[in-house]
Amino acid sequence: MQDPNPITQVPIIQIDVAIVGAGPIGLCFANALSRRGVSSVLIDRQSRSSLETPGNDGREIALTRASQQILDKLDVWPRVDPVERARMRAAKVFDGQSLFAMQIAPAASRDEPLGCLVPNQVIRRAAYAAVSASGPGRAEVLWRNESEIEAFQADDAQVEIRLRGGERLHAALLVAADGRFSATRRAIGVPAHIYQHGQHMLVCRMRHEQAHDQTAWEWFGHGQTLALLPVDTHCSSVVLTLPPAEMEAQLAMPQAAFEADITRRFDGRLGEMHQAGEAHRYPLASVYAERFVDRRQALIGDAAVGMHPVTAHGFNLGLEGLWRLATLIGDARSEGRDIASRPLLARYQREQRLATGPLFAATLAIVGLYTDDRKPARWLRKAVLRAGDAAWPVRRLIAGHLMRSAG
Ligand SMILES: Cc1cc2nc3c(=O)[nH]c(=O)nc-3n(C[C@H](O)[C@H](O)[C@H](O)COP(=O)(O)OP(=O)(O)OC[C@H]3O[C@@H](n4cnc5c(N)ncnc54)[C@H](O)[C@@H]3O)c2cc1C
Repeated sequence: MQDPNPITQVPIIQIDVAIVGAGPIGLCFANALSRRGVSSVLIDRQSRSSLETPGNDGREIALTRASQQILDKLDVWPRVDPVERARMRAAKVFDGQSLFAMQIAPAASRDEPLGCLVPNQVIRRAAYAAVSASGPGRAEVLWRNESEIEAFQADDAQVEIRLRGGERLHAALLVAADGRFSATRRAIGVPAHIYQHGQHMLVCRMRHEQAHDQTAWEWFGHGQTLALLPVDTHCSSVVLTLPPAEMEAQLAMPQAAFEADITRRFDGRLGEMHQAGEAHRYPLASVYAERFVDRRQALIGDAAVGMHPVTAHGFNLGLEGLWRLATLIGDARSEGRDIASRPLLARYQREQRLATGPLFAATLAIVGLYTDDRKPARWLRKAVLRAGDAAWPVRRLIAGHLMRSAG
């Protein structure tokens, strides 16, 4: 007799963890699980080749010391060519036209850089290579590319998943790692606080006459926010934040006019500036999910917390979070416990919210303070900048976080 429901004839794949999204966070999470003997499947809309050799997206990621340590344990850091690691010796924060700069640098006694900048596509390429390499004791990582989840249902025993095309999976845990506008988060039914900042961010490598001394700049001018991230002696990544209409005009400029305009915006402080790479634009939105877990489901990376890039925390916090969750899962597996029990997921949520909540709120406050051009905000900015106190929020947020070690 013919089966009235042909979908039941499709073989069911049993896997420990199904991960939606093979961005840098999904790739590193699958890698961390595999090293703890936990199998996973990575489901991503993109083709395998575009994940293996991702294009340049203009992002230079400021990595904390803790992130470098985690990436080292995942065998990702050794795959990042040293020429791609730009030392960030210090950072300066300017306000308006004043030449006064707040300095952020490691204590004189510490002979270490403040942080390290690596292009995002270099991290993604290394993360892909590391998860694809086999090794003793490593559990399998399956791939489902150019694929998406069509439907899923979680109960106390497992999550049943159907992919587009009809393939079926049974997993102990479903993890959303599909970015800040996560469709999986929506399908799980987790509300998120989304802050549209009404601004666009442009990132572009520029060469300049004067050297930057491996120092990053954050410049809160009036009507614009500028940053400069050191790449090599005479090359930096320029980050410009503007309202959408102004950004449109900026991107429509012929190259010579664009270069003259950026030189002018930087007040000629680094001499003439010339475009050294393609310009990329990002509409700015910050996202904080109301919950990071549900029954046999969890959110990681930008799907849980999508930070405003100004304090350079998004990937760093995502990496800390996946490491936290993978460690809890790995320990449960070693002790023969359920890898997605309610107490385990609740602990991940509690710890990750503690690690991200205050930074998320402080970053929003800083963005508000520094993009407000009304007089009281300008005065407050000047006051906090000149106070130069160790408790100054940007100093604490940028320097403290960048230099903290894992654990
Ligand atoms: C300009 C800029 C500068 C930044 N600078 C820093 C910095 O200095 N330091 C820092 O720590 N962070 C920084 N960040 C943040 C950092 O880039 C992100 O936190 C990081 O990329 C998040 O990785 P992710 O894997 O969670 O998400 P994503 O990189 O967004 O990856 C999501 C993946 O999911 C896939 N996907 C999406 N939807 C689906 C679906 N429905 N089904 C299947 N697959 C799907 C996508 O194809 C993609 O592969 C910056 C961000 C920007 C925009």
